[in-house]
Parts: sequence; C-alpha cells; structure tokens
Amino acid sequence: MSAHIILESCRSLDRMIATERQVKGSCSHCHAEQSVDLDQLRRRVGGSYSLFNRRCRCALTPGCPGWVRFFYLHGVWRPLWDEGTMLRWYSHKAV
Ligand SMILES: [Zn+2]
Repeated sequence: MSAHIILESCRSLDRMIATERQVKGSCSHCHAEQSVDLDQLRRRVGGSYSLFNRRCRCALTPGCPGWVRFFYLHGVWRPLWDEGTMLRWYSHKAV
C-alpha cells in the first residue's frame, strides 16, 4: 500500500511543463536543494522522460556522497517517488 499518490501530471516532463509544475532536487546527505529547470532538462532527455522514482548523485556539494531526490510542489513539497522505490533505495544503504 503506497502512502504517496503521484499526480498524473507528474508522470512526464511534458505533462509537468504543461501544468507548470515546480520541481526541486534535494540531497539526502548534505540537504542542499536546487530547483529543477524542466525546459532545460527536456532539451537533454526529451519530453517523455519522467523524474518519478529517479535519483542522481549529488552534484550540489563537491565531494558529497549523497543522492539527490526530487520533489514537486502541490500545496507542499511532495516526493516524486513511491514507497517501494524508497525501500529499495534504503535497502541499498545508499541514502
Ligand atoms: Zn549532497
């Protein structure tokens, strides 16, 4: 049973851009945050790409071993991943 309900409009960059979704990345280790430029990302990876259940190595702080995870703004910042993925991330001891 998932605690998170991901909005349909967050399933691809195209849909997020069309609905003017605000997205940020936040590092689980150094807690640095950065807003995500969806248009710029789309030019690199295409409009069907999804940030859902994605994470990337922290590039916000030099040498940080953490992972950047993504959030979307819908009243409050909500996680762009589901519970199964979160458990997998934690089980790899990589958070
Ligand atoms: Zn970091």
